[in-house]
Amino acid sequence: MNNIAIDGPAGAGKSSIAREISRRLGIIYLDTGALYRAVGLYMIKNDIDLKKIDRVVLALKNCEISIRYVEKSQKVFLCGEDISDFIRSDQVSMAASDVSAICQVREYLLDLQRDIARNHDVVMDGRDIGTVVLPDANVKIFLTASINSRAKRRFNELLEMGQDAKFEDVLKYIKQRDLQDTNRKFAPLKMADDAILVDTTNLSLEESVENVLKIIKKNGVEKNK
Ligand code: C5P
Repeated sequence: MNNIAIDGPAGAGKSSIAREISRRLGIIYLDTGALYRAVGLYMIKNDIDLKKIDRVVLALKNCEISIRYVEKSQKVFLCGEDISDFIRSDQVSMAASDVSAICQVREYLLDLQRDIARNHDVVMDGRDIGTVVLPDANVKIFLTASINSRAKRRFNELLEMGQDAKFEDVLKYIKQRDLQDTNRKFAPLKMADDAILVDTTNLSLEESVENVLKIIKKNGVEKNK
């Protein structure tokens, strides 16, 4: 199977780039952040205090997450309900970052991610894909961008989704998530030794996609017939 790993901090353009790459290569896209978001949403819905790790771990037993592809688009199901449209708020982003630091949560989601990669050609994005989930991926890309351009992208995304957002808040949450994701003990956000760095600060989406595609092709992965 051809597996492409794309990691990087929030707002670096991972999901837009990965989605477009998957379309052009004719392979599926797995947004692994959505899985952590689903766990975060489950905890919010069930009033679980995210600081009490034992409570989160206990609640995890009833947290059923699955992925389905509807017209090639990824949908995330939580206990049978499609929650894809309810996981993009700042509250859920922060909850995802909180639960993602718990090793039992990471272990719980690991099999799901690896199963998909075992059975499909996939471009997968996240924080630990190149380092932990798919250490043998054919290509590993680490996407980054300046903190301001990342916050601006995220802010525009929220506005496009019709959410009420303030730029200062978005910037604050992104900094907080960066800090948590980089400094956690288990599978922190980190560039794999064999990953290729792409800085998207001054690149349009099309330029970023072209750059990443060039790297992918150089590593021998071509469009699916
Ligand atoms: O990528 P996205 O912003 O949707 O991810 C939400 C949160 O999920 C991240 O801030 C991070 O804490 C966590 N995450 C992770 N490992 C991944 C993907 C996401 O820890 N592979």
